[in-house]
Amino acid sequence: MQFVKKLAVLAICAFFISGTLLSVVFVSSYSIHEHDKNGPDNSCVYCAFLSEVENLLKHLSTALVGAAIVFGALSTIRFVYISACSYTVFYTLVRLKVRLNN
Ligand SMILES: [Zn+2]
Repeated sequence: MQFVKKLAVLAICAFFISGTLLSVVFVSSYSIHEHDKNGPDNSCVYCAFLSEVENLLKHLSTALVGAAIVFGALSTIRFVYISACSYTVFYTLVRLKVRLNN
């Protein structure tokens, strides 16, 4: 069951990353185009799609930067905690009893 969950998370991450990369490819491939007047109010359809994709990528990049900052902070806290625990000796009651017996 744990393996299926990990596989599902990896699939979701792969779909997210591939969607983001395909969006970047779409924007870069259609950034230079001939403006047509086929949209509403004689506007360019490609320019409307490009502006929507760019806005979506801006919002996703903001969320990704926030997630990366949180992940880095949590990793740092975990590293510091593990490093501190290796040098800290916890005196439990059993350990103190054994110490008294010796
Ligand atoms: Zn255009």
